[in-house]
Parts: sequence; C-alpha cells; structure tokens
Amino acid sequence: MRLLFAAIVFAYYLSASMSVQTAQNHGLDLVLPTDNDALFSGDGPAFYQYIERDYQGVKSTPWEGGQYGFVRDPKDTAAGVVYTRFHEGIDIRCLHRDANGEPLDEVRAVADGKVAHVNVVPGYSNYRKYVVIEHPWDGSNYYSLYGHLSSIAVKPGEPVRRAQRIGVMGYTGTGINRERAHLHLELCLMFSRQFEAWYDTFFRNDPNRHGIYNGMNLAGLDVARLYLTLRSNPALTIPEFLNHEETFYKVALPKARHFDLSQLYPWMLPAAKRNGGSWEVSFAASAQPELSFVRKTPTEYSYLTRDIVAGHQGNAHLTNYGAQLMRLLIWPD
Ligand SMILES: [Zn+2]
Repeated sequence: MRLLFAAIVFAYYLSASMSVQTAQNHGLDLVLPTDNDALFSGDGPAFYQYIERDYQGVKSTPWEGGQYGFVRDPKDTAAGVVYTRFHEGIDIRCLHRDANGEPLDEVRAVADGKVAHVNVVPGYSNYRKYVVIEHPWDGSNYYSLYGHLSSIAVKPGEPVRRAQRIGVMGYTGTGINRERAHLHLELCLMFSRQFEAWYDTFFRNDPNRHGIYNGMNLAGLDVARLYLTLRSNPALTIPEFLNHEETFYKVALPKARHFDLSQLYPWMLPAAKRNGGSWEVSFAASAQPELSFVRKTPTEYSYLTRDIVAGHQGNAHLTNYGAQLMRLLIWPD
C-alpha cells in the first residue's frame, strides 16, 4: 500500500492562507526518462503502457490504466463506475526491443541529482529493481523513482546528470510480462525522515530494506501533468504546481514537536511560523489525528481515498490505517 498524495495536500491546505514565497527559481528543466515522447503529442496509447483488466468477466487492455491517479480496479457503485486503486506514477511504454522481444529502452535521470537508493533484489519491493534519485530544487529535496528495471548502471551516492543513463527498462514485477515491459516513473515528496522507526513499529514482520526511500514514505505527484505544464510555463516551481491540486479531505494533526514535512518542505508552513509566530492553529487539540473536512460525494469514501477515510456522507472518518499513516507525519510524537 502506498500513502495517499492527498495527505500532502491536506498538509498544504493547513497553510492555504499563506502567500507562497518562492525562493530563487532556476526552473525544473525535466527531461523524459526514455526515448518515448508521445506524451507531448497527446498520444496516450503510444505513451502509456496498457494494463490487463478483468472487470465483471470482461477482459480489456486499457492504456488509461498506465496514467497517474485513480485509474485501476473499477468498482460498480450507485454513482457509476469508480476506479478505486491509485497509481502513483506513470507507466511509459517500451519502444525498443531486440529480436527476442526483450526491452532495450535506455532509462535516464529526469534531472540532475544524486542517487539516493538502488534496489537490485527484485523480491524486496513491488517496484522490483528500482532506483531513486534525489533532486534539490529551491531548497527542498524531491525524488524521482524508476521501477521495474532489468539492469541498473548507478550506485547509491553517485551524482547523476540530467539525461544520464541509469539503467535499462525491464519487466521485473508481479503481473508484468515481456509484452507489458515499461518504466514506472514517479516524482515524489518525502513524508518523514523518521520513517524507519515508524515502519518498524507497525510492520515488524516485513522488514524494510529501503530505509527512508521505501515507496510508503514517498508521495508521488502528477508527473505527466507536470511535464505538460512545464512546457507552457518553464519557470513553474513545485509549490506553484501543487497549489492547484484540489483538496479532497483534510486532517487535523495533534500538536507535535516533530512535523518533519515542515522542515523538508518549508513552503507548506503557514506564514506565521516563518515569521516567528505560532502555527498551532493548524493542529487539533486532540491526541489523535482527526478528519476535519471531506468533500461531499455519494460514493463510499474508502473507494476514493485508498482506505484512509471510510464511511458515507455524514459518518466519514479516518480508518485505523489512515490514522496510522498520519502518525508517520509527526513520528515519534
Ligand atoms: Zn506503474
């Protein structure tokens, strides 16, 4: 299970009244990670790798399932079909194959950065063989993640340049066959540097082999939309980009000494904090994280929030799982 991007959005909402102070901006200057650039011509079927769907006995191979967002696991509800599984990155279709059909696409760093993590043992992660690269942009670190690789050409700690080759596309992963070879790309924010202690408390039976670069600690943003937005606005910053995300729900966190996000991404903080004032207004007095807002919808909330919020209108609430994840943000308080 992956954390919900909305968790970031809620934190951002808490500071919605602030005016975003943008630091010196040098532009993100992202490059696509493979030769496949059909995203820019709007050719979805050519850019995204299809998924194999079996819905109510009907088999299909929709390319839309390779997009970012709620694009998987349709469920029939009173409000129509709802896609309940969130895809935190994009699946970029394979372009080059050898005579046996093996994928050959070079995978490249989307921007300058430093290799933060390399996983070479497929069984250790749903991403199978994957690389995480850290990018320092405007004083905050962001992380690009490249999953399902067949081989990896970089080592942790190594600096990488934009468009530098870091590996080769593969199909390492459950449910991925050679035909569906693709690159799973994410661009993420990190939730907490205290992740390992939090993880070890709740998931004792499943050792964490990835330190703070475990996918659960990385919240993917809509990277395809970012690429497209940067085309028309090359000076765009991540805070500006996220400012336009829609808030679906908000959570009030207990007042905490440890709110790592505020150090990792200071632009999420209320202006009051930066001015030396108090930011307690952002936090609930209660000892537990509480749901303070959820957008009205006729659909069961667990379908729309990846089981972080449950219930219907009027009785929406954080699940135990949701509360646990929220505690990560203020761990170890
Ligand atoms: Zn994927």
